[in-house]
Amino acid sequence: MKNIVLFGPPGAGKGTQANFLKDTYDLIHISTGDVFRYNIKNKTDLGLLAKSYMNKGALVPDQVTIDMLSDEVAKTPDANGFIFDGFPRNTFQAEALDEILKAYDAEVNAMIALEVDDEVLVKRLLKRGETSGRPDDSSEEIVRNRIKIYYEETAILKSFYEKKEKYHGVDGVGDIDAITARLNAVIDAL
Ligand code: AMP
Repeated sequence: MKNIVLFGPPGAGKGTQANFLKDTYDLIHISTGDVFRYNIKNKTDLGLLAKSYMNKGALVPDQVTIDMLSDEVAKTPDANGFIFDGFPRNTFQAEALDEILKAYDAEVNAMIALEVDDEVLVKRLLKRGETSGRPDDSSEEIVRNRIKIYYEETAILKSFYEKKEKYHGVDGVGDIDAITARLNAVIDAL
């Protein structure tokens, strides 16, 4: 199993790039944000709970998110590997991910971070909000709150994976194809 954490602030392009990588490397793409949005759309209990946090740009509680992620991985135990997009978002979740993968005799092989300047992120997210219908992309205040939470809680994961020599930073600005090529180069070298 080759397991990759695709990392970066909201609007860095994780979802877009994960879609290319999953085909190129035959990996299962798990976006925790997408799973929550699917549950909101289908009005499940999980969706109702997640919605109250997501609409403010806050994080859904760890244990709820970890249990959901664990269930997603369990759906394809024989997968060639996974791209985790939007998970982990803090150290507690990163440690939980190690435990989950251990049960499959697997580990996180790399964290690849898309590096994008904050002001570019705000512009990208608000633009996406014009067409995506995502409530958390709809106002500058919520968008900035998500970026703030990223720096307060999530960015620390860079050092978590650096200590394990698994961190790879990639320039996330430019043509989509050029960024994909940068990501491919990192994965091919693993
Ligand atoms: P995303 O699609 O990754 O931007 O996530 C959208 C929203 O879903 C986030 O702002 C959180 O409210 C929630 N979410 C997604 N992934 C996680 C996670 N790993 N932990 C907690 N909340 C999450």
